[in-house]
Amino acid sequence: MDLPDYEDQPDSRPIPPEFESFAEDGPFRQCQVCGCPIYTTEQPYLIERAFKKDEVIFEYAICLDCRTKMQKQISQESQTRVDHYFHEHVDLIQRREHLMKQSDRRLVDWIDHCIITGKSREEAGEYQIMSICSADHMLYDYLPMMISAEAMEEITKLLSPKTKDHLDGFVDEFLGLPPEIHNLDLVIL
Ligand SMILES: [Zn+2]
Repeated sequence: MDLPDYEDQPDSRPIPPEFESFAEDGPFRQCQVCGCPIYTTEQPYLIERAFKKDEVIFEYAICLDCRTKMQKQISQESQTRVDHYFHEHVDLIQRREHLMKQSDRRLVDWIDHCIITGKSREEAGEYQIMSICSADHMLYDYLPMMISAEAMEEITKLLSPKTKDHLDGFVDEFLGLPPEIHNLDLVIL
């Protein structure tokens, strides 16, 4: 999504337990796609974790190079529809401004409610959280955020069949998930 960069640097804080890997029992250390080290280098990476209540459904970290390559596989019309959907439901710029004004960075302020539906994690039941990290720090900028499975399903419906195939291919190849979990969102930001 096309969002303006800010002149002020994003705030960075140590990665909270919410964005550590369940499988690794600690921080994510490698890009799930290319295997490059992420925890010991400065190259930023995206973490996405999906939960059903307290249970982790899937999780991965991906370096921004790989993410950019994946984003290029998203068709223009899919991207336009997704951008439009976000525009209609949330003002990400205002959200960022509002949250950055707060003097402390309480993770709960950023990820406790779905940015689309406004439902809390508890109400949503099933949801994904995502953040951008660099080495052992998490950046507060447009992310971190939470999106409920309900909203994610709507977003997935906006994707063209071809784009959906690409994302499903990613899931099959790199995440090793059961086929019913295909509502991955790798489109945002
Ligand atoms: Zn990578």
